[in-house]
Amino acid sequence: MRQFDPEQAMVETRRSFGEHGGVVPSIERSSTFSVLEPGTMPEIFAGEKTPDAGGCFLYSRHFNPTVNVLARYLAAMEGTEAGICTATGMGAITVAMLQICRMGSHMVASNTIYGGTHAFIKEVLPDMGVESTFVDPTDLSAIEAAIRPNTKMIYVEVMGNPKLNIADIPALSKIAKAHGVKLMVDNTFTPVMISAKELGADVVIYSLTKFVNGASDLMGGAVLSTKEFIFELMDLHTGRAMLLGPSMDSRVAFDVAQRLPLLPLRMREHCRRTQIIAEAVEEMGVAVCYPGLKSHPQHELLASMVNESYGFGGLLTVDCVTIEKANQLMSVLQNKEKFGVIAVSLGYYDTLLSCSGSSTSSEISAEEQHEMGLSPGLVRISIGLTGSLDNRIEQIKRALIEVGLAK
Ligand SMILES: *Cc1c(COP(=O)(O)O)cnc(C)c1O
Repeated sequence: MRQFDPEQAMVETRRSFGEHGGVVPSIERSSTFSVLEPGTMPEIFAGEKTPDAGGCFLYSRHFNPTVNVLARYLAAMEGTEAGICTATGMGAITVAMLQICRMGSHMVASNTIYGGTHAFIKEVLPDMGVESTFVDPTDLSAIEAAIRPNTKMIYVEVMGNPKLNIADIPALSKIAKAHGVKLMVDNTFTPVMISAKELGADVVIYSLTKFVNGASDLMGGAVLSTKEFIFELMDLHTGRAMLLGPSMDSRVAFDVAQRLPLLPLRMREHCRRTQIIAEAVEEMGVAVCYPGLKSHPQHELLASMVNESYGFGGLLTVDCVTIEKANQLMSVLQNKEKFGVIAVSLGYYDTLLSCSGSSTSSEISAEEQHEMGLSPGLVRISIGLTGSLDNRIEQIKRALIEVGLAK
């Protein structure tokens, strides 16, 4: 039994309080900060005099007090030494990859990842001299076989997008360690449920745009890792985060920090509702995929990794086989049953419906979609927290019958 409790860790993190004693942090909007002793400027620039070492903040692209509050809070949740927040999830992924991979490097990446990440690895990194091999993340021997002498990292999502396949983080961590490469894990689908660093990840990535913020009203990302790696990213002369500049705004950081204490409650409810809906849909004989179902190939694996009191996530997929059928189902669910809204993204308090092959995974070619086993009629549903659950179950049952996927 693992001892780490992300909820407790967050509570125990010293919060920064408002400058007037408010129970919430202040929003520090300064882009620049005054240096009381001009003689200390060189030390501050050299990174020797940080705010916790008698120095001060320098410039908000480097560190900002409010953004730092959120970063510390997220690092506590994940159990890492440190973290930085970025303007988007892609901002976090790209700077972290560019920090590890240089011209001549190679990466082993899961072939079931977010479309934007897949496109960056396939289309942009080669122009910078970084090669990659895409592999089925559940095939450990294929992952190990893909490692070359110049491989610098393995990249996976805990819960793959959009197939909801599960990566065995402890096993991947062993492989990474044996070959001296870093394991970078995108935990966007499974925050607080899964403590990726505790399971062996070296670098944990989030798109805060999804479950972590949970309100679909802002964008953000985070890189959580060792102090050493975070300082590398923020190095004034070589840091990819510092120099590419995908910094988070302090007002955004404040909003996310205010919603973070409710994340454990929200995730438990997303998990509870999705489990019940998935079971009801499976009972109708519909091709539903949800890691909480015994029929899911990595059900036991996810059960072995998930933190106590959480379920199996807030996403399920229904395979409608064709795009036409998928569109028909989404249309009935949105326009007739008011079950959810047709929109990309996930982790919102309302239910979101999208057809992955023609939306969030459309950057992946039809051929590759076929190779990774992605059906063109796959509807991804991010189950929300609103409405009576009994009513939701009736709505989806009626819709499945109406479009002829069930009797
Ligand atoms: C959305 C998403 C991203 C990208 O995050 P943005 O905040 O949209 O830049 C990366 N990984 C996963 C798994 C995502 O769902």
